[in-house]
Amino acid sequence: MRAKGFLVAALAGLTAIPALAQTDAKAHAPTATAPRTNAPAATASAEPFVLHELAPGVYAAIDGPAHQAGSNAGIIIGDDGVAVVDSFFTPKAAQALVAAVHRLTDKPIRYVINTHYHLDHTGGDGVLKAAGAVIIAQTNVRTWLHSENPHLLGDHMTPALKAEIDALPEPDITVDRRLTLWLGARRVELRYWPGHTGGDLVVSVPDAKVVFCGDLFWNHVSPNLIDGTVSQWIATDAGLAKAPDAEATTFVPGHGEVGRIDDLIAFKGYLSTLSADVVAARVQGLSGQTLSDDVAARMKTRYGDWSAFGYFIPKEIGFMAAELDGTKVVPQPASPEAGK
Ligand SMILES: [Zn+2]
Repeated sequence: MRAKGFLVAALAGLTAIPALAQTDAKAHAPTATAPRTNAPAATASAEPFVLHELAPGVYAAIDGPAHQAGSNAGIIIGDDGVAVVDSFFTPKAAQALVAAVHRLTDKPIRYVINTHYHLDHTGGDGVLKAAGAVIIAQTNVRTWLHSENPHLLGDHMTPALKAEIDALPEPDITVDRRLTLWLGARRVELRYWPGHTGGDLVVSVPDAKVVFCGDLFWNHVSPNLIDGTVSQWIATDAGLAKAPDAEATTFVPGHGEVGRIDDLIAFKGYLSTLSADVVAARVQGLSGQTLSDDVAARMKTRYGDWSAFGYFIPKEIGFMAAELDGTKVVPQPASPEAGK
């Protein structure tokens, strides 16, 4: 299923920053002066997200049409408690998520699992912690929450966002590579995969055939490559697509609608095409703006209808060229064991 309509730009989720909203994925990139009235407030739902039951006790909370959640999240209900996957961008959206869990079950929220450090997935961690959750994240996230989120926000940083970042609680449990979580008889597998930030966890619920991919999978949404290593990312998505039961698995992306294996493969194809097109343009001797315009035009013929394409593609090309040059700057692991 395709992500339709407008999408918030910079993190594909920072709706709390009005200047970043755009109404049409095919429109030009929003500017700092983009009027708030472009946002389709009339279509905003009461909830910042839409709940989808994917299997008994397993839900995807998909960012709503007004993108007030800022990203997707998940709810996994076991025999004796609940694990939440990601906490959205704003505390307000996280409060709505906690309320949704309490409507679904009387069981306690025992864990929140961060798929990565980006603020659009961790901004509500304080709310989840106050609701009783133990915070679990990949080892690098414990450092990067505070050291890297300012870089992620860049020019969009405000004093309020800085205060929000400074107040983010650190994970209580960190995972280098793998962790198995038991919610009674329900097994939840957390596994480190490289590509998007170098500190990403994929969360699987094997009995439900549901995989929460975080931002290693964007479903028909152009991705943010700011911390990405595309060569690793392609290999990761190939690995996820080869998992046992992949054909029967529901893949929940970090952004966009709930997907299946063909959507995951389409996203891998986006990254592969971007990489191949930048390589081809360089072989032709193109560089700088000429290279960017050439690759953007090629990519547009195949992916121009993906959400946020117009905003992200020039940035993606720059990041891809830097990766090929060996000059791409990515967050550095907290320790050699913490993934790289
Ligand atoms: Zn995200």
